[in-house]
Amino acid sequence: MPVFRFAPSPTGYLHIGNARTALWNALMARKTGGTFLLRFDDTDTERSKPEYAEGILEDLAWLGIPPDRIERQSDRAARYAAVLADFQARGLVYPAYETAEELDRKRKRQQARGLPPVYDRAALALTDADRARFEAEGRQPHWRFKLSGNTVRWQDGVRGECHIETASLSDPILARAGSGKVETGFPSELAQKAMTGGQVLYTFASVIDDADFGITHVLRGEDHVANTAVQIELFHALGANLPQFAHHNLIASATGEEMSKRTGALSLRSFRAEGVDPLAVAIVATLTGTSEAIRPLAGLEALGALLDLSKFSRALTKFDPAEITDLSVKLLHAKPFGLLKEPLAALGIAGERAEAFWVAIHGNVSRLEEARDWWALLMSPQNFAVAETDFLAECAELLPPEPFGSETWSQWIAAIQAKTGRKGKALFMPLRLALTGREQGPELKAVLPLLGRAEALARLVPARRS
Ligand code: GLU
Repeated sequence: MPVFRFAPSPTGYLHIGNARTALWNALMARKTGGTFLLRFDDTDTERSKPEYAEGILEDLAWLGIPPDRIERQSDRAARYAAVLADFQARGLVYPAYETAEELDRKRKRQQARGLPPVYDRAALALTDADRARFEAEGRQPHWRFKLSGNTVRWQDGVRGECHIETASLSDPILARAGSGKVETGFPSELAQKAMTGGQVLYTFASVIDDADFGITHVLRGEDHVANTAVQIELFHALGANLPQFAHHNLIASATGEEMSKRTGALSLRSFRAEGVDPLAVAIVATLTGTSEAIRPLAGLEALGALLDLSKFSRALTKFDPAEITDLSVKLLHAKPFGLLKEPLAALGIAGERAEAFWVAIHGNVSRLEEARDWWALLMSPQNFAVAETDFLAECAELLPPEPFGSETWSQWIAAIQAKTGRKGKALFMPLRLALTGREQGPELKAVLPLLGRAEALARLVPARRS
């Protein structure tokens, strides 16, 4: 059974770029009868916050893709410590003591000589005495994984045949030591030190989790392509099966707004606050940068049916956030009344005239809530007329008798034209203002039967309101 995962770090709220990865994974899982696992990459205890984890769950539910299973890296320190201890015992990792400043100086020297800034493995040459001296100075080790130096190849679900020379990469740091007190129960004191108050780094925790949770597909942004070579070597070191890797192209805002979990720009909650349909967000986040056109769809199932990894384009693609709001409006206009009956009733729009009302005004609202204003304007007694009272009184005289049907409006207008000689704006605008109170709005032809004769007359000639 396929197992897909979405692995955000809870350091902010999800933005459209995150939604793209989440939706592709969730919908591919649904389509293949698989599982959608949400993993919180929360090993960075300073930046990870429970309220962001909560927010991510809310945002996924809002999009309509709640996870089938949830895991948290912060629950798994003991497992990571055990694997680190195993790697230490097998000589797959080595302790290094350089400070961030020392590493920075090394990189600058290499760059000055035109060399790639790859870690020089100086720590491999340390003797026991060197290490003891560093520890006596109070330095804590970090643990680097010894890469093979070979070429790592994989068949990427989006990018096809990929290969990376691991000789061109620095040995990755898997964990940094902490200075916490040593507790029993951990496999090795060194490993435990690395976990207590220390930090396991993303690449290490991610591979252990992907292996332990039986992840079959790692579908993520192409900013992770370079990590994949390192991660494949780690899968081999664990003796675990490799998942199918696929790296989708990234999307960027055409308006130049940077997507950032930290600043909240283009966050899902900002669209939610604007009352945007989550399906519009889902369609734009998922289909931008693929061979499928952005268009209204019936729902997530229809969206899922379009998905195929071969449809991703390879280039960074821009989208305009206005596409989301425009699509949201189109989706609203295309919705059958049956689907809106309940949400409209929640706005107080109910009863036997609700459907005719919605049919009349739906083209004039871009958010469902705006229907409430029209309901008040059209469905309860109102007087708006302040000008053209003589003309409106003449119109009132000519208003046909009930019942009002689809022809009533044209009959009335013909009679008014014949009697007053008015046409165009001079004819329609006073009527529109008197009947609806606004210069723009639904077709008056549809408004008239909604108002009924008595209310229409009272709006044309306020004195006639009984
Ligand atoms: N926490 C990582 C990120 O948000 C996960 C990457 C991955 O899918 O492996 O970038």
